[in-house]
Amino acid sequence: MDMHAFFHPQHIAVIGASANPAKIGHSVLSNLIQAGYEGAIYPVNPKETQILGHPVTHNIADLPRGLDMAVLTVPRDPVLPAVRQLAELGTKAVVIITAGFKEVGREGFHMEQEIKEIAEENDIALLGPNCLGLINSGAGVNVTFAAGAPASGNVAFFSQSGALCQAILDWAVGENMGFSKFVSLGNKAVINESHMLDYLGDDPDTDVVLGYIENVSRGQEFLRKARAMSRKKPVLMIKSGTSTSGAKAASSHTGAIAGSDQAYEAAFQQSGIIRVRDIASLFTLAQAFSCQPLPQGPNLAVVTNSGGPGIMTADACERSKLHMARLSQETIEGMQEFLPSFASLHNPVDIIGDADAERYRLTSEAVLRDQNVNALLILLTPTATVVSQLDQVAENIIHLANQSEKPVFVCLMGKHSIAAAQQKLVQAGIPCYNFPEPVIQSLEAMYSYQQWRNRPEEHVEEIRTDRERAEEIVNGFRSRLSPGRSVEIVEYQAQELLRAYDLPAAATSIATTSAEAAQAAEKIGYPVVLKVASPDISHKSDVGGVRVNLESPEQVKQAFLEITSQAKYHEPQAYIHGCLIQEMAPGGMREIIVGFNRDDQFGPLLMFGLGGIHVEVLKDISFKLAPISRSQAADMIRSIKSYMLLKGIRGETGVKIRAIEDILVRVSQLATDFPDIVEADLNPVLVNDERAIVADVRLTLHMPHT
Ligand code: ADP
Ligand code: MG
Repeated sequence: MDMHAFFHPQHIAVIGASANPAKIGHSVLSNLIQAGYEGAIYPVNPKETQILGHPVTHNIADLPRGLDMAVLTVPRDPVLPAVRQLAELGTKAVVIITAGFKEVGREGFHMEQEIKEIAEENDIALLGPNCLGLINSGAGVNVTFAAGAPASGNVAFFSQSGALCQAILDWAVGENMGFSKFVSLGNKAVINESHMLDYLGDDPDTDVVLGYIENVSRGQEFLRKARAMSRKKPVLMIKSGTSTSGAKAASSHTGAIAGSDQAYEAAFQQSGIIRVRDIASLFTLAQAFSCQPLPQGPNLAVVTNSGGPGIMTADACERSKLHMARLSQETIEGMQEFLPSFASLHNPVDIIGDADAERYRLTSEAVLRDQNVNALLILLTPTATVVSQLDQVAENIIHLANQSEKPVFVCLMGKHSIAAAQQKLVQAGIPCYNFPEPVIQSLEAMYSYQQWRNRPEEHVEEIRTDRERAEEIVNGFRSRLSPGRSVEIVEYQAQELLRAYDLPAAATSIATTSAEAAQAAEKIGYPVVLKVASPDISHKSDVGGVRVNLESPEQVKQAFLEITSQAKYHEPQAYIHGCLIQEMAPGGMREIIVGFNRDDQFGPLLMFGLGGIHVEVLKDISFKLAPISRSQAADMIRSIKSYMLLKGIRGETGVKIRAIEDILVRVSQLATDFPDIVEADLNPVLVNDERAIVADVRLTLHMPHT
């Protein structure tokens, strides 16, 4: 696919170009002309002879062969034949603005499918259908029907929603924010977010990438591209359609089905994409990332002429990953020379209400020089003294920021009297806000990104397993499974599979009579646990099928009889094999839960949490997409809120975290090796300071349709 022809076309045909200003085919042509496009333009229209000064071609068949780009603004039904003709002419890129395809129903879906096939067979870079078009400021290309064109800049934007594109363009024009590339993806029949990441990663005109998506087209490819890309440039992305009702709206919107939110969260986090929750934040962050250097550390210094806002900033800072910098003695002593005695010399540095431009300049310079400072916020309340000198203040800040390798942010508290200065700062590339919160938000994201970029690439170790044994067990189930069906592998055999992966399954025997059970218990050693053994019962406690802490042969025999009869009573249809006799984990072990399910887009999603109310009520769970490295496993464990309970608080002995890491990486490997195991639930795993025991496990095997 020729992405160069797509972004830098030497010739563009506008099919459906119109002399009527109310038509989309007119807007596209006129935007292209207004953008100063210097390549050849071919309006195509069956009737006109000339539109906007350009001679008209009457039929697609009369267009030259091998055009770089054709833009389609015709009604829906002629689109498919047009694409066929363009393919025959060897057109390299096709933009379909026309709507009415998969987003509206079956017929449209099938047409889109055919268009996609033609494009793929002929290697056409096809955008849309159902999109606003694209802009490449550097090449004078604007084939959108949007009103108003953005300035050129170093930010690229792509979006699945055309309406959002319109709104954002308008906003950007108003805010004077410039774009390098602007692409409305529409239905993503061919070109999708992965192509964007791929291309924009190496685009010299783009420093920051913004994206709005409702779903990802190819999860694994997206992850790979995103991971490579975000090492080069920051990628800020909004993913909508996460709430259930949001997901429904998204599916009727562009015919996309939203993946599960946890999987997206994990995907973004593991590939270094900065997830943004709303459009306001997208712009705040885009501005900061696009015009300021990344902070090399978390330490922020604040220079302010008023106490309250300075303290509020410090509070917001402490709630974030950032810290208030501790200024060096040298800086403090230096400031004493020129600051009045009432000034507060510690961060936030309060240069008090009568501060003028010069005091701001001297203090900001001194603070920014300090080695303990990674970023500076200049906070200003429009007092009478400083308001008359605002222009000078702005000038000084611009000068200071331009010479510094540390990020400088400004917060002018107010609206009316600061407007001119604010505009001056923003135009010079200094992020300037009316409140301190966006500053903290931006810097925190920039700092996190900086940390992510400095982190070594994850290395997933290949674990030695008895793969043959594992295959043998799974094959036993596969052979009994027809396509499209699932089966649960319950505890006894699931444990065997775990053992093949060196996972610490509790010692377990199976007995078909109470006498056998007592014998098995003798071998394992008291106390033991008895559980119902049935391929048809997966939630054993629910049918009275689990007895713990049995200490004698009598108790074991008794439990055997009770469990089997209870199970028969609750599940009369179930085949009951007998009972499992299992080693009883020592008292005081913590219960944790490890498992995975499979996301349609991103594959196996591992989960980890502390058992009991922590998972069920507090939803204190961490997720990652498999495969994971050991350090990612450690991350998963650390990132639950109740981590301190595992680590041990107030002199309490903690559990062996390494044993949990081991389990996570091994389960990750199992999930990766067996794509047809669609779910796993190790619940509970018991851990103490010495070891971990998997006390219960069930797996779900699914045979895909062939
Ligand atoms: P279920 O099918 O109901 O999930 P489990 O095997 O998980 O059955 O047993 C229920 C509970 O019994 C567990 O959550 C755990 O608290 C306890 N338990 C199960 N096996 C053991 C064991 N080997 N040692 C200690 N406690 C156990
Ligand atoms: Mg269980």
